Amino acid sequence: MRILLLTIFLSLFSISAMAAESLTVSSPDGKLMVKIDNEQGKVFYSVIYNNTTMVERSALGLKSDIADFSSNLTLKNVEQSQIDEHYTLRTAKRSQVHYTANQLNLTYESGQRHQMVITFNVANNDVAFRYSFPQIGERACMVVSGEQTSFRLPEQTTTFLTPQANAMSGWKRTKPSYEEEYKADAAMGDKSQYGNGYTFPCLFRVGDQGWVLISETGTNGAYVGCHLSDYSAEEGYRIAFPMEGEANGIGSTSAGVRLPGATPWRTITVGQTLKPIVETTVAFDVVKPLYEPSEEYDCGRYTWSWIVWQDNSINYDDQVKFIDLASAMGYEYCLVDCNWDRNIGREKIEQLAAYAKTKSVGLMLWYNSNGYENDAPQGPKGGMDTAINRKREMAWLKKMGVKGIKVDFFGGDKQHTMQLYEDILSDANDYGIQVIFHGCTLPRGWERMYPNYLSSEAVIASEQVIFTTHHAEQQPFELTMHPFCRNSVATMDWGGVIMNKYLSRDNKSRHARRTTDIFEMASGIMNQTAMQCVSMCPNNLTDIPQFEVEWLKQLQTRWDETLFIDGYPGKYAVLARRSGERWYVVGLNALKEPLKLTLDLDMFAGQQVSVYCDKPLKEGEKFAQAELKSDKVNAKGELKVVIQPNGGLIVQR
Ligand code: CA
Repeated sequence: MRILLLTIFLSLFSISAMAAESLTVSSPDGKLMVKIDNEQGKVFYSVIYNNTTMVERSALGLKSDIADFSSNLTLKNVEQSQIDEHYTLRTAKRSQVHYTANQLNLTYESGQRHQMVITFNVANNDVAFRYSFPQIGERACMVVSGEQTSFRLPEQTTTFLTPQANAMSGWKRTKPSYEEEYKADAAMGDKSQYGNGYTFPCLFRVGDQGWVLISETGTNGAYVGCHLSDYSAEEGYRIAFPMEGEANGIGSTSAGVRLPGATPWRTITVGQTLKPIVETTVAFDVVKPLYEPSEEYDCGRYTWSWIVWQDNSINYDDQVKFIDLASAMGYEYCLVDCNWDRNIGREKIEQLAAYAKTKSVGLMLWYNSNGYENDAPQGPKGGMDTAINRKREMAWLKKMGVKGIKVDFFGGDKQHTMQLYEDILSDANDYGIQVIFHGCTLPRGWERMYPNYLSSEAVIASEQVIFTTHHAEQQPFELTMHPFCRNSVATMDWGGVIMNKYLSRDNKSRHARRTTDIFEMASGIMNQTAMQCVSMCPNNLTDIPQFEVEWLKQLQTRWDETLFIDGYPGKYAVLARRSGERWYVVGLNALKEPLKLTLDLDMFAGQQVSVYCDKPLKEGEKFAQAELKSDKVNAKGELKVVIQPNGGLIVQR
């Protein structure tokens, strides 16, 4: 890491002379600029890209028990530096990152002479900013009750947002858990579904000028998880704190900050196209690993009986079937879902883990996070809520050779809940265990912060496709939305490439899957998570075409690089991901018509490629047939393709 520090100490005279003027900081390529100004003690910023305003003059600052850091502010010091850092990621969309940005640190003094530093990092397509505070006299801590921080988008902006749920709503009062529907191209003035604003990340289309993705990163037990308020014409969207009722009403909505301390980073990714939105690494660029891995962790694919076979499959014999399936597919893991403590029992789970080992499959086990935060009845309960319980449980898991856990049903975004995620991760690392969260908050930079963190749900996931025909119908829309927002800022455990035609154990009853086989297979690459769930059933080994089984066996989950190729949120998406030397191009179509595209695939220029696609539905046919073709990408790197409605595309060598 190389940091060039260029400090400009301004004399008091020059600061007062420039009080009404604006300061600017630009990206290394000079195209992205943040302008900060101070008017009558209030601080504002705006974001300009290629001379076009993408975020209009918006408020900065917060309110604390020590001082009001949102008004009466005087600029005292300005420091500029350059950041040039290389780092690696294990579980995200890219493995090697070169982060360069210009940093501006602005020190303000409140009316009561307390200091706040606002830091802006400006990279070529990303702005990140945060507030930090020195120790103030004898005060070693402070309470932040709310923020002024806002985001005012230009008036032509349309929105791609998902609402914040009501506290203690949903299944056994487990919400909010970031499992709400997205709306595409909505008006800014629309009220959010529940009147609670929107959860991160928030995607905006600024007319023909481009795209803006707003999120936050670096959140752990040192702050609350925030979201965006509803829109108001004057303020735009404001940073909103957790709601009173979250976690069964226990715990404050305020944030306690140890001094010196800082807020999480707020991030704004900007592009004329969707390319910077899909490819951004800003969620990881501005955070740091918080501890060392206790061992070298691996990732891979896992089978999961619960999603299609549901609760009744959590018994010894059915789990053996899914361990055997993982083994037949060459997959590394099998996840045993909820209620294994009751339906299999601890003794038999030890036997099951031993059996899995003979098949070279690792077991992962489900846990309830409870706690007092909701009524989720599934067991095992009381294994993850306190350090004493966790260490006892994790020592047992380690003894059995269990390498991963999935912890479900958290209680919102209050500070003590954000601490619980961190405590589970930290303790798990001591026992060589990796962690997936479900029923949970958005992970905010955790892929880099916690070396044994794997993935999170925080999305309307495959379970909803199983539960309702509505969500089965919405699946193509949802999965062509996430590459541009939810999955752009964090790994996403959608929970399954589903290959049964009907969403039932007998593969005949209940509703039919709306997506094609190639759609499902392509989703295994489109939905980025380094621990990928393949929700196929044992019958799929023989009842789907053999070339599909063979493709699923070689499904990659770790990516060195990710590129945007084409798409529009909620309509279609085409991405390329590279693993080592090999590129995989995948596409999904949520439109009602076949989608004809000429793709720019430089990585395959002049080469013969394998193309997995769907045949058009024939008269009277209910499910599209899949086909595997060979095609040649021309010397310019162009390939003409057709993606069928609710269908997919995979191009590889
Ligand atoms: Ca869930």
